[in-house]
Parts: sequence; structure tokens; C-alpha cells
Amino acid sequence: MADKKKHDFLIVGCGFSGALTAMGLTKLGYDVIVVERESHPRFSIGESSTPIADMLLRSIAEEYELEWLKSLSRYGSWQENHSQIGCGIKRGFSYYFHQPNQPFEDTDTHENELMVAASVDNENSDTNWYRPDLDTFLTQKMVDLGVKYVDNTEIKKVNRKDSQFWSVETVNNKSSEKVVVETTFIIDATGSPRFSGMMFNTNSTHANFETNSSALFSHFDGVLKWNDLLKLNGRCTSHQRPYNPDLSALHHIIEEGWMWMLRFNTEKVSAGIVFDGGVPAGNPENVWQNALSKYPSVNKLFATSEISELPGKLYKTERLQRVLDRLQGRGWLALHHTAGFVDPLHSTGIAHSLIGVQRVLKIFKDHKPSDTDVMDQLKEFESLFKKELKMIDLLVAGCYRFRFNPDLFRAYTMLYFVCSIYFEQTYLSGQTPKGFLGADHENLFRLVNSVYSDSLRLDNKSDYEAVQLFVESVKQRIEPYNSVGLMNPLNKNLYHHTAVEM
Ligand SMILES: Cc1cc2nc3c(=O)[nH]c(=O)nc-3n(C[C@H](O)[C@H](O)[C@H](O)COP(=O)(O)OP(=O)(O)OC[C@H]3O[C@@H](n4cnc5c(N)ncnc54)[C@H](O)[C@@H]3O)c2cc1C
Repeated sequence: MADKKKHDFLIVGCGFSGALTAMGLTKLGYDVIVVERESHPRFSIGESSTPIADMLLRSIAEEYELEWLKSLSRYGSWQENHSQIGCGIKRGFSYYFHQPNQPFEDTDTHENELMVAASVDNENSDTNWYRPDLDTFLTQKMVDLGVKYVDNTEIKKVNRKDSQFWSVETVNNKSSEKVVVETTFIIDATGSPRFSGMMFNTNSTHANFETNSSALFSHFDGVLKWNDLLKLNGRCTSHQRPYNPDLSALHHIIEEGWMWMLRFNTEKVSAGIVFDGGVPAGNPENVWQNALSKYPSVNKLFATSEISELPGKLYKTERLQRVLDRLQGRGWLALHHTAGFVDPLHSTGIAHSLIGVQRVLKIFKDHKPSDTDVMDQLKEFESLFKKELKMIDLLVAGCYRFRFNPDLFRAYTMLYFVCSIYFEQTYLSGQTPKGFLGADHENLFRLVNSVYSDSLRLDNKSDYEAVQLFVESVKQRIEPYNSVGLMNPLNKNLYHHTAVEM
């Protein structure tokens, strides 16, 4: 059977990137069809948003007249307008450093922690996105806007019909019905390199990444609150901390790598362990339990927890780092999360995905998909993306190297914060920074590169003097970008005021 219409765009995959791209293109007057392999609501990972992600949401909302989208950029307006969509408060980034087989040691000087506020209060805070709800909502909004949407459907083959059209064979996974769709342009929003590998002969590689990590994760019910445990065992009264760490992206830094905990309003918790190297062999439940049992304080949090009904299991990944050799060609492109990924540390994924959506919309605002000069734009899209992935890789890899030493880890992490602050401040000054996190900013990129090179000379056996020299050199080198007092010893590793006024 043939779909009657010739579409301008076929978008493959309906996560938030696919849905937002479809809505933006529709607002530009294009005819769009979206094909999703599964059906909503479905489990999805990638939940912790950031001030940059929020700015991008607001900007897409304004530019493409999706007014309702703005309210999802802050916790307060999200609750006011869409409280049915699950989410959680994310006031900032919190890190706690653990020693194997010892309870977490809370000290007066906070030497085993780092808290960096990203927002001034709960009302204006970032959010942890409960993706099953959010992606369902966005898909419904997309359908309401008139986008044709087919779920439970996969694409079996794409044929270049003539220089203008693709003929695409789809099959419904439930009914086995086959439909041929014609489109001018294909956007791969599948969040995985497989589709473009099969259809456009691309290759995905993890060569050339400095980071080498893999993850084990799920959603859990009944996880106790970290702040309650700190209150029970700790020396620091909670009012000294800039916010309640359970209302943040909570990172437990452990010998194996690190663990994230993101709490939703429903009290469900997204939790995952990211291992430096591969996830240890064995049954995922045993690997999870073995890792937790080494860290008594974290273990206590999960003592009475169970895996949530959705997804009902632990997911185990292969190496997370990947990049496509090509993310565009004649009549097609891959969105950012499809094209590559580094690691969940620093929560760069959502913002980087949104910047990709914004760039694609701008390309097709200025050019028709059949224009010959679109290819130049797509090549630029590809080269900027690859630069950005390199930047993220460097920002992340040094943190893994330094996870054994809180002083080194904290100093290295500051690179990420100055890059974010640079991006946020440039954006808010009315300019659009070209590269995500300053990847196109020559001096910032050089700074990150050189600090990473220096990091390679240190390891977990480095002496106190070498550590302090490194910390001091980072402090000096970030100075030109450090407008918020990062690394000021008076803060005792608790930063109350890094948020950029919005
Ligand atoms: C372990 C992990 C943790 C992460 N944590 C964070 C975080 O805390 N913060 C953050 O900012 N980012 C995080 N990320 C990144 C984040 O997941 C992505 O940025 C985000 O999911 C991208 O959304 P998307 O819509 O592009 O892709 P996806 O969410 O992957 O959506 C792709 C859609 O395509 C569909 N699909 C797949 N294949 C096909 C096919 N062949 N045909 C049709 N449909 C198909 C899927 O069913 C899905 O609905 C994390 C990533 C990982 C791997």
C-alpha cells in the first residue's frame, strides 16, 4: 500500500528530539510524517536537564511559536501548567566521594563533597524529566499540530527514487501491514547509530574517545533520601548546604566510576552506575548488588527499594562512547543523539540534543530540503557536532581519571562549569554561541585540552604537592572565565550562587 501524500520530511524516532523537530518543521510550513518503532508511553533514559537545556527550550518555543513549551523550562511553571507530566526538582549538581567498605564521611569542611547550585530556588530550578510522561505529552502535542504519526512501525528499506524523493518501505510490527512512504528528506532521530548504518551505510566508532565507560541503570521505588542519611550521620547541618541534595543531580563517586540518582515528584528514583571500562560480567542484578554493597551509605539508601514496574529490569549498556563517521548525506541527516554520545556525567545529552534540533530547524528555515546548497549547511552541522563531542569527551575523561581524589576531581570538574557559564552568559547577552560549551571558542578549547594533557601526568598515587600544584594551576587558568567565584576556599566546596540570572 502507498501513503497518498509526498511528504517534505520523514522523521524516524519520536523521542523529544524527533517530536520537537517535527513540530518546528510543521510551524515552518512543511509536511512531516514521524515513524516510531515503539509506542508511548515507553521507558527512556536521559532525564537530568540543565540551565542550557532550559534556555534552548525557551528559545525553540519562541522561535517556532510553541508557547506551551516554555513552561517546561522551569520547575515552577511546569508544575503550574503541566503537573500531570512527571518530573523532579534539580537545583544543581551534587557530588559525594565514597571509600570502599566505609560509611560516607561528612566533615565540617565538606572535603568529601561538592555542591554547585544551578538555580536560585525550587520555583526557578531545572528539572529531572520523567521521560515516559514527557515524550508522550510531546508526541500528543505534535499530533495535535497536524503531524502524521505512525507508531509500532519500522522502516525496512529506503530507496532513492529520483534525485528528489525517497521511497521508504515501512512495516507495522503488530499488524504486519506494509506502507510505502515518499519523502524529500529523512531525519534520523532514533537515538542510536543502527538505522543510519543500515540505510545510509554509516559506521559508528568509539575509537579516538578518551572516555571509556558503560552503564547499568533502572528506575526504583522506595529509595531512601540521601539528605535524611546525612542528617542522621553528618556533622553539617542542612542549612549550610545550598539546597537539599535529593533535589538535584546526585552523583556518588566510587572506585568503579560513579553513580547517578535523580528523584522524581512521585518519589521514583532514576539510578545508574557508570563504570570506568565495561560493566563487570555476570547477572545485572548481582553486578548491581555487588557494587552497592561495597559502599555502606549508598547501600543503605537502596536497602528497601525495588525496581519500578516501568521498566521492570536493569539495563546494561556496552561502551557508551560512539560517533558516526557521517551524520549527513544527500537527502538525510542524523540528529545529535543519533550521531554520537559521550557519557551522562555533566548531563550534557539533553542540551546537546536540543541544540541539534535548533540547528536543524534553522537550516530548514533558511533552505528548502531540496535546495542544492543545503549540503554545505549539513557539512557545517557535522563538523561542529564533532568538535563539540571532542570537547565533552575531554571535560568528562579527566573526571574519571581523578575520581580517586576529591581535590583533583573537583578542580577538573570546574572546567565543565566555566564552559557552561560561558555558554549561558553569551546566550543571555543576546548572542548565539556557535559551539556548545564553548567548543568553537579557541581559547576555551585550548584551555580544556591543555588541562586534560596535564591531568595525564597525575594518578591516584600522586603526592600532596603535585595535587595542590594542579589544583592551583586550574584555578589560575579558569580565572578569565570564572565570574562566579569557583574554587574560592571560603565556599568550602558548596557553591550557592553560580546561577546566571535569567
Ligand atoms: C545511560 C544514559 C544516561 C543519560 N543521562 C542523561 C542525563 O541525565 N541528562 C542528559 O542531558 N542526557 C542524558 N543522556 C542522554 C539522553 O539520553 C539523550 O540526550 C536523549 O535521550 C536524546 O533524546 P532523543 O529524542 O534524541 O533520542 P531517544 O530518547 O533515544 O529517542 C529515540 C526514539 O527513536 C525510537 N527508535 C529507535 N530506533 C528506531 C527505529 N529503527 N525506527 C523507529 N523508531 C526508532 C525509539 O523508540 C525512541 O522513541 C543519557 C544517555 C544515556 C545512554
